[in-house]
Amino acid sequence: MNDTVLVTGSSRGIGKAIALDLARAGYPIVLHCRSRLEEAQAVANEIDALDRRTGNTRILQFDVADRGQCRAVLEADIEAHGAPYGVVCNAGIIRDGAFPALTGDDWDDVIHTNLDAFYNVLHPLVMPMVRRRQPGRIVTLASVSGLMGNRGQTNYSAAKAGIIAASKSLAIELAKRDITVNCVAPGLIETDMSDAAISPEALAMIPARRAGKPAEVAALVRFLLAPEAAYITRQVISVNGGMC
Ligand code: NDP
Repeated sequence: MNDTVLVTGSSRGIGKAIALDLARAGYPIVLHCRSRLEEAQAVANEIDALDRRTGNTRILQFDVADRGQCRAVLEADIEAHGAPYGVVCNAGIIRDGAFPALTGDDWDDVIHTNLDAFYNVLHPLVMPMVRRRQPGRIVTLASVSGLMGNRGQTNYSAAKAGIIAASKSLAIELAKRDITVNCVAPGLIETDMSDAAISPEALAMIPARRAGKPAEVAALVRFLLAPEAAYITRQVISVNGGMC
């Protein structure tokens, strides 16, 4: 059975941790990045050094905000290798600022890269996944900001709330096809993205009094990808040290 999983934004951070964790669990992985091909290649080498069932881990490179590029690369990959079992929509960006200071580009870039990517990545994949007539898994990455808002993140909160709603709707459409769609909502996790945000004031707002590790998000994603999670769909599950 083809149980390949595509993880977007897996050159670093949470996506890299998810890809490595799933590879260790035995899933063939398709990595993805926008610009940092060398970092993605290093992840591929790490995966290929594990005891692998399949050959070289391949890397797809495209901008998730570019609809045409997403479709072209994904359709070519499906043509060559078939549709994946799972997709983890993880790639994302922040462009933080108080609302009066947010530029139009700050707004647009965050909406295009986080929310539009839901359509851009999943639309070319969903019907090929359905046509496999096998169980499938879609996991999207939201954020605590999409659940309760966050100062300086009106753009990001809007995009992540949109991902939550879109994931729930797609879950309803795909449930009878045995394809689950769930959303993982991390709190503050130690990555390049959150570097500037980890401060004593931020940590004081977290009941666990620490930032999370990418591996702690990856463990939940692995569970949602497993056959045992077949009856869990349309859910938003937080990994946030008790923030909400
Ligand atoms: P990082 O900034 O560490 O990594 C982002 C990843 O996304 C990279 O692989 C990057 O590729 C890729 N990416 C960014 N923009 C694009 C684009 N336009 N097209 C294709 N790929 C792109 O982020 P994190 O690991 O911290 O975040 C991962 C996900 O988790 C995001 O959706 C984020 O919103 C979410 N999240 C993170 C939290 C945190 O505290 N870190 C908290 C809550 C949610 P490249 O290396 O090529 O640039």
